[in-house]
Formats: sequence, C-alpha cells, structure tokens
Amino acid sequence: MKADVLIVGGGIMGCSTAIELARKGKSVIIFEKNIPGRHASGNNSGGVRCQGRDIREISFALEARKMWDHHSKTVFSDCGFFVSPRLRLAESDADMEVLVKRQEKLNSLGYDHEVVVDREEVLRMSPNVSDHIVGGLVCYTDGLANPMLTSKAYATTAEREGVTIFSHTRVVEATTTASGFKVRTSGGKEYEGEMLVNGTGAWAGRFSEMLGDPLPVFAAAPTMMVTDRMPDMMAGTSLGLTGRLLGLMAAQNGTIIVGGGYRSPHDLEKEKIWIDPMQMAKASKIMIEILPGLRDAQMMRCWAAFEGCLADKVPIVGESTKVSGLFHVCGFSAHGFQMAPMMGRVMSQLVLGQKPELSLDDFRPDRFEDASYRWKAGCFKKQHAEKKNGRRAHKLCGHFSLNNSQQFRLLAFEVSRGNEYLYGVFFDNPGYSGSLRNYEGIACVIHVGRTCPSQLFVLSEIIDKFATLAKR
Ligand SMILES: Cc1cc2nc3c(=O)[nH]c(=O)nc-3n(C[C@H](O)[C@H](O)[C@H](O)COP(=O)(O)OP(=O)(O)OC[C@H]3O[C@@H](n4cnc5c(N)ncnc54)[C@H](O)[C@@H]3O)c2cc1C
Repeated sequence: MKADVLIVGGGIMGCSTAIELARKGKSVIIFEKNIPGRHASGNNSGGVRCQGRDIREISFALEARKMWDHHSKTVFSDCGFFVSPRLRLAESDADMEVLVKRQEKLNSLGYDHEVVVDREEVLRMSPNVSDHIVGGLVCYTDGLANPMLTSKAYATTAEREGVTIFSHTRVVEATTTASGFKVRTSGGKEYEGEMLVNGTGAWAGRFSEMLGDPLPVFAAAPTMMVTDRMPDMMAGTSLGLTGRLLGLMAAQNGTIIVGGGYRSPHDLEKEKIWIDPMQMAKASKIMIEILPGLRDAQMMRCWAAFEGCLADKVPIVGESTKVSGLFHVCGFSAHGFQMAPMMGRVMSQLVLGQKPELSLDDFRPDRFEDASYRWKAGCFKKQHAEKKNGRRAHKLCGHFSLNNSQQFRLLAFEVSRGNEYLYGVFFDNPGYSGSLRNYEGIACVIHVGRTCPSQLFVLSEIIDKFATLAKR
C-alpha cells in the first residue's frame, strides 16, 4: 500500500498534521502502535496556555490559541475547551520582580498577552489564595480542554478527511527508497510513501535513529493528580507559581487537577511508569500552602504519561538535515497540547514544500549538533561542571540506591578533547566530591569520537536503564 505521506505516531501532532495534509489533497497513512491519543495527547492536563511560554514558542502559541476557538468547525468538537485565565502567582517581592521583568521583555518584543497584576486583582480572580501572595502575572485568554475528547476529535476528523489510521500497528523498521520511504509494521506488512513524518512523541529519538538521523529526544513521565469534586475554590482561574513547581486547574466538573512539573520514574521500553508518591506529597504540600482551603481535599487519582523532551525545552519541528523527505515534529517537553493545531498547519506547509508561515529556525532538528548550543541549552549543567585537564563533568542525573545499601549519584558527563567528545555515565559516592578525578567510577563509556548528538540520546537510554536497575 502506498500514500503520499506516512505519519508514524497517532498523537495530536501526527493527527493534526494529517488533517491539514489531507485537506490539501495528500493521501496520508498514520501508524499508531497503541490507539490514537493513548500517550501524552490523551492523558495530559489539558492546559491551553500561552502564559509562561519560551519566547521562541509564543508566536506559535498565540496563533494556536485562535485556532482553539474554532475547533467546533475544524475538528467537529469543542474539545471541552473553556477559558480559565492562567494566573502565575508571586510569593515574594523577588518573585514579583521576575514577573515584572517578564512582562517588560514580552512588551519589548511586541507581546501583550501577559499582564502583571497586584494582590487586589489576584484576590478578585482567585479569592482563596494564601495571605502571603503579593501579586501575579495573568493571561486572561488561557483555558483548559479535555485531552481525551480532543485527541479523539483529531483522530476521527483525520479519518473523516480520508486519512487511513492503523491502530495497534507499530512501525518496526523504516528505510529510505529511491522514491521515498518504506516502513514495515509489527504485523509484517510494508507500506511506501514519498515523505515520512516522525510524530512518535517520547519514542522520537529511538524512531529517527532507524533512519540514521538520531535526535536527542528523551522520555519523561509528567505526573498529575486530581481531587474529588469539591466546592469551587478557584473561581475559574488556573494557578501557577513563579519560584516553585505547581499547577492547579479547576475542571468544569468541580475537580481540581494538580501538577505542574512533577515527574515519575519510568521504563520506556516496557511502557511502564511508577508514580512517585514523594513527588505527589511535595505537590500536595505546596498546593495547601497556596490554597489552604484544599487541606482536606481528597485526591482521587494520580496519573502519568510519556512525553518526549529536549534539553532546551522547545520542540524539534522541521525537515531532517540528513534524510531528505523526513520531517520531525516532536520533543514538546510537556507543553505541546496547546500548540498542536498550529504545529499541524506549519508541518503541512513544510511537507508540501512551502515556506512555513512562521519561522521554524529555533526548532531546527540539527541544533544540538553544535556543542556550544548543547552547553547553553543546559544539556550539561554548569553548576556541576568541573574543568580539569580538558575534562568537563556535568549533570547530576539522579540518586540511586543499589541493593538498598549504598547511595550513589549517577552522573552523566561529556569530556572534550579538541574536536573529540567522550560521553558516559558513572556512579559517584555523594561524599566523594572530586568527581572526575579518575575514571574508576565509570559504569560505562558510551562513545569516543566526533561530536554526535545521538550520544545524548544513548545517554538518556542508559540512564533509563540504570534507573530501572536501581529500582529492582
Ligand atoms: C501528564 C502530562 C501533562 C501535560 N500537560 C500539558 C498541558 O497542560 N498543556 C500542554 O500544552 N501540553 C501538556 N502536555 C504535553 C502534551 O501532552 C504533549 O506535548 C503532546 O500531547 C505531544 O503530542 P505528540 O503527538 O507529539 O505525542 P504523543 O501523544 O505521545 O503521540 C506519539 C504517538 O506515537 C506513537 N508511536 C511511537 N513510536 C511508534 C512506532 N514505532 N510505531 C507506531 N506508533 C508509534 C505512540 O504510541 C504515541 O501514541 C502534557 C503532557 C503530559 C504527559
């Protein structure tokens, strides 16, 4: 079977791209190893948020926000969307200063969607917040939607537009051919297409590696909780914080969704996530400090889902520089849901060979190939850096206890020798501050060679494996 475009991944990015391409006359097949929306797209917290976005994403988010108002026409469902202004609270004068600077920066770039507000306005919007809140930054047009309804609407609309969706169909092999691409599925069938879109979410690095274009996408498992239905505590306003992790969103059914950056350990290969109760306890504690009236809230459910992340927290959206005709739309780092309608639109423009209406330069797939970009992007954190004999040791990846006896720190490092880079992970005793004094503690050395972004991916894989090992 053949199609103009093969899309791997039936999340909201794959479906959004498919709808746009089908409406422009292309034949499209989507392959989804589970069911459309099974992962991040159907299980996120539904935040339709322009507030707090990385500057590089704002123009996409604002354009997408307009599209959320028209879903009833474009995907034949309102997706459960409603406006719930997002208020980022300041807990101190120092927080307030951060918010004022943010607004100044946005205004200087011509954006006016985030507005600093004083305590009086905060109380008008959210009368139950704690006494210590001094002000905030609000985006009045932000909202919430129902992720399950939304991903279902996108998938059914794609089918309605003539897209073929193969659910429970994993692409196990992808190769280039003289006329484009050939993929083989878990059922042993083969399909051909002129172009291929990688919309595989948390699996995007792994998938693109098949085609010789490894991406440094790593998996994370953002984790959320939801309360029982309760009396209205939030007056329709969603809350976030400036200096600490917390997101509180009031769903229309009277429950409150709690999250905002908490993550759980996982095993991507086995598709398993172990909810970390300590993370949930942390979130609950902060929640009560912000909304004391939630002290007796009953948590009904915790959940988590896989998401593809990148070190610089903005996605990869663009054509591969290594494989012509291969397009990536991945690495949304836990905030892609809101931008999905717009990402589908620009992806379709790219695939059709048109100039995208907004520049995708900041989301270039090859940006991590530049070691100095990786450094700036925070792939390796400066505070963990130690420069000795040309060595740079970086990034604390986690604390693990092996055999319940000794605590270890697991560190990832990158060592540069001129043009050559060595990547690895090693265990280090917390009391041992010399870090890379020698390599005795190295658990495994991954690669010695020229700068190669795939090694970052390999590194995250190995870290995943250690995390799994440590849990046994
Ligand atoms: C808990 C949580 C909360 C979040 N909250 C928000 C929020 O409030 N606001 C917001 O804007 N964003 C949020 N996000 C982020 C948002 O959900 C994601 O950025 C977005 O859904 C990514 O869509 P996607 O299509 O790229 O990925 P996915 O939905 O994960 O889709 C990728 C699909 O590819 C499939 N696949 C992978 N490999 C293969 C293969 N080899 N063959 C076939 N299929 C394959 C997978 O099965 C998967 O279904 C949140 C994410 C999580 C996890």
